[in-house]
Amino acid sequence: MIRYALVCSFGHEFEAWFSSSADYDVQNEKKLIACPLCEDHSISKQIMAPSVKSTKKKPALSDAKAFAAFAGKVREKIRDTHDYVGDKFADEALAMHRGEKDEKPIYGETTTQEAEALKDEGVPAAPLPPAFAPTPPKKLN
Ligand SMILES: [Zn+2]
Repeated sequence: MIRYALVCSFGHEFEAWFSSSADYDVQNEKKLIACPLCEDHSISKQIMAPSVKSTKKKPALSDAKAFAAFAGKVREKIRDTHDYVGDKFADEALAMHRGEKDEKPIYGETTTQEAEALKDEGVPAAPLPPAFAPTPPKKLN
């Protein structure tokens, strides 16, 4: 069995199982696949690798370990390439966005309100999931 992530012409994303990729091709050609939300028959595959159902079950621990290792690398990368600005993040990001300061990669903390304000201004800032957020350095420069 192959699971495909599909998308209709209206951008609704859904998943469906097929016995083979040829099975998907035939069903799609005959317009037998319908979007579960709008019943659109213009279906295409999303750009991603199909996940092939395996009979072997991976132990959950190795996935968790792999994720922890990956998250650690992301944290390291951010720490190495970004300057920590603490709770001045919103001020710094806004100043750079307005051209009052030279742009550089930064990370730090904001309140929810500050994050909303940045979004309203069109500042390209994104919240980090906790697993990817580096531990702040002890001393600020
Ligand atoms: Zn749809």
